[in-house]
Amino acid sequence: MKDENCKIDTLCVQAGWDPQTGESRIPPIVQSTTFFYGNSQVMADLFDLKREGFFYSRLANPTVDVLEKKVAALEGGVCGIGCASGMSAILLTAMTLCEAGDNIVTAGEIYGGTFNLFSTTLKKFGIEARFFDADAPASKIEPLIDERTKFVFAETVSNPTIVVLDFGKLAAICKKHGVLFIVDNTLATPILCRPLTLGADIVIHSTSKYMDGHAAALGGMIVDGGKFAFKGNKRYPAFNTPDESYHGLVYAETAAPFGVKCRAQMMRDTGAIMSPENAFLTILGSDTLALRMERHSRNAEKIAAHLATHPKIEWVRYAALPSDPHHALAQKYLPKGTGGMMSFGIRGDVKACARFMESLQIATQETHVADVRSCVLHPASTTHRQLTEEQLQKAGIAPNLVRLSVGIEDADDLIADLDRALQAV
Ligand SMILES: *Cc1c(COP(=O)(O)O)cnc(C)c1O
Repeated sequence: MKDENCKIDTLCVQAGWDPQTGESRIPPIVQSTTFFYGNSQVMADLFDLKREGFFYSRLANPTVDVLEKKVAALEGGVCGIGCASGMSAILLTAMTLCEAGDNIVTAGEIYGGTFNLFSTTLKKFGIEARFFDADAPASKIEPLIDERTKFVFAETVSNPTIVVLDFGKLAAICKKHGVLFIVDNTLATPILCRPLTLGADIVIHSTSKYMDGHAAALGGMIVDGGKFAFKGNKRYPAFNTPDESYHGLVYAETAAPFGVKCRAQMMRDTGAIMSPENAFLTILGSDTLALRMERHSRNAEKIAAHLATHPKIEWVRYAALPSDPHHALAQKYLPKGTGGMMSFGIRGDVKACARFMESLQIATQETHVADVRSCVLHPASTTHRQLTEEQLQKAGIAPNLVRLSVGIEDADDLIADLDRALQAV
């Protein structure tokens, strides 16, 4: 791949792997923990970060490296860090930036796993999560930021509440306070939205979703935009003082302070790296990302419009629908489409929802979302079943809410399937 300025559809199939004469056309799975060097000075330079190369697959691996370069090119960042899962990508990001006594300021409308990590697990390590309502005005969010705030966090399109992020509002707040703005772009993907061009400093993905797209490989990715001014920034002393565990390296003086610290320190200490096989599957899957996101979006638009007029449906949440509360934000930040995720309310009780889901023949009941096959989930009777009615209401989960992840099947077949199942209600 010679030209990084190509359009995104070209990057999807070309970026990341540039084979030399006689090498395999698609990237090989480098199934090796370690790498051969016949020269001790070369190895010393590798350990001093003076020279690029692989030395142990707990920190970096050639197959994972191809996917890292590809996703970094798609997002327009300077480097990527492939992780074992989306959750480990978020954990490593927090560990790279925070220590006990620090805090993070985050939208409340986020993935359930991220909510648990922030509110429960990080708390045990002395890191406090301060939540804001994504639709709150800046005047309600800004007071949460103090000198120990290390980053502000939100999702481009939130899972499962389908809220669209107001980039302008959060980017302005973060810029004013000199604090990192981190965006989980899993459900939008760089095809529909590129957060680094909208003021974000770091982008995170669960590649287990659309990026792989086939429900085949678990993975996560952190992309460093490389533009944030760490040098001399009093909010980030750990980037401006020598790291004694890394020969006195000062991260703010490297080309990509966040990316270098994340890999050299946190990947070294945790080994939460993506496996070469999962990286390979994700490279193959992401070749068709641009095509798939277009189809997911067109299918979902058609289905949302149909359900919005269906007598057995009480409400539909899909940001591309003109009646949706986040329609204006979607038009501004996701002009190419809003992807395949939507939620809707069935006129009826929990039993009616169960009957509806059991009557579906194409869309299946799954906890996974965002792959080629359509699937549905009824949170009140599955993922959130331990919650009381009152707790459900607080979490924004109506008892009749059904989450639908629209796949790339024929839209008319999916509509016929939904109609047939609604008749059973
Ligand atoms: C699934 C998901 C995650 C977690 O990713 P895993 O790969 O399952 O660990 C994080 N954020 C969002 C928005 C997700 O949908």
